[in-house]
Amino acid sequence: SNTPVTVLGLGAMGKALATAFLTNGHPTTVWNRTPEKADALVALGAVRADDVVAAASASELVIACIWDYASVMETLEPAADALKGRTLVNLTNGTPDQARRMAAWADKHGITYLDGGIMAVPPGIGTEQAFIVYSGAREAFDTCLPVLERLGAARFVGTDPGLAALYDVSLLSGMYGQFMGVMHALAMTSSAGVPAAEFVPLLTSWLEAMATGIPRFAEQIETGDHSQHVVSNLAMQTAGFDNLIGAAEEQGVRPVFFTALQDLMVRRTAEGYGADDLTSVVELMMTRK
Ligand code: NDP
Repeated sequence: SNTPVTVLGLGAMGKALATAFLTNGHPTTVWNRTPEKADALVALGAVRADDVVAAASASELVIACIWDYASVMETLEPAADALKGRTLVNLTNGTPDQARRMAAWADKHGITYLDGGIMAVPPGIGTEQAFIVYSGAREAFDTCLPVLERLGAARFVGTDPGLAALYDVSLLSGMYGQFMGVMHALAMTSSAGVPAAEFVPLLTSWLEAMATGIPRFAEQIETGDHSQHVVSNLAMQTAGFDNLIGAAEEQGVRPVFFTALQDLMVRRTAEGYGADDLTSVVELMMTRK
């Protein structure tokens, strides 16, 4: 399809989004606060809009990818009338409540709203690795799907506009949790002079093997019953955790990432849940159950 698209915000991500539309033959209008950032896209065939109102008026489908929700709001407010009756897809990173507030603003102005979370880095946009989660207006998602798929696989996660942001930050939480563990592990081996080439393949396959436990974790957290499939009980893991912290101290690596988890493990064990699985500590994390 050659549906026209407008892209607002031409940072690293906005540029990648606009490039994916242009290379797939979509008439693409672009706008950025600093206009020069559109130069390379204009060379690829994009139309540079002089202001946000012109940019919003150019296409039925308007995509925003700016710094944060405050900058999106600041950018869109003057173009509210121009956006009326059009579909706004906001791919800026934010919280679920920010997304819901933006959806309410859009609704008030007769703008159809889709929120999205980009699960890719800019060079990944338009490749098989990229996927984007969307929430909000279901019909608009279905209509725009062929265009949205130019950016990567598109997954609709619900009509509550906050859900895409919830999925996004939850996926990122899993990622950062893994990253922090990996960084600590590499600080340990590196400070001991263990060659990365020797350790990294073991780390990678270990993490892959451990990831197979995620569905069981999810079931335990969903049901709140952490006692059914215990092979490594919390009390045992809590005792062993002393060694994880102790070894880091021996090695001169600050266990900053792990002291918070240790605190939860010790508290939960002390509360009498030592026979549970590790996921039992989630009960101390969820404050609104
Ligand atoms: P950049 O830092 O490369 O670009 C930031 C963009 O925001 C620029 O276009 C900048 O305009 C614009 N901007 C900032 N403040 C304002 C404002 N007050 N009014 C108007 N425009 C403003 O960031 P990215 O492009 O990488 O990120 C954009 C969004 O995409 C973020 O929400 C980010 O979280 C999300 N994202 C990024 C990923 C990545 O790996 N890069 C991955 C997934 C999501 P100007 O050029 O004028 O400064």
